Amino acid sequence: MHELSIATNIIEIAEEFVTKNKGSHISKIEIEVGELSGIVIDSLNFAMELAVKETVLERAEFVITSIEGKSKCNKCGNEFSNSDWYTPCPKCLSMDFEIIAGKELRIKSIFID
Ligand SMILES: [Zn+2]
Repeated sequence: MHELSIATNIIEIAEEFVTKNKGSHISKIEIEVGELSGIVIDSLNFAMELAVKETVLERAEFVITSIEGKSKCNKCGNEFSNSDWYTPCPKCLSMDFEIIAGKELRIKSIFID
């Protein structure tokens, strides 16, 4: 499962953060996931639940925010919102577009106990 390796990665970053800041546990972590990142938020939540046992994130509140997908049409230059890869440009119906937002996965903030 793709999300499990992401969860493991998030935990590694969190552990490093706690060590650097001489904390013991994380009380809350906020993650931003783009709609076009290919990450399923429910799966990531589930993977985190499994992976956090006996880590600094064990008791942390885990908040995931979804970032809206945005694309720019290569044909007519129109910018539009899309939450998936297969919605054409609403103006000219072209499938030739570039994604300009929504592919990100990032840790927005970490709160230490
Ligand atoms: Zn277009």
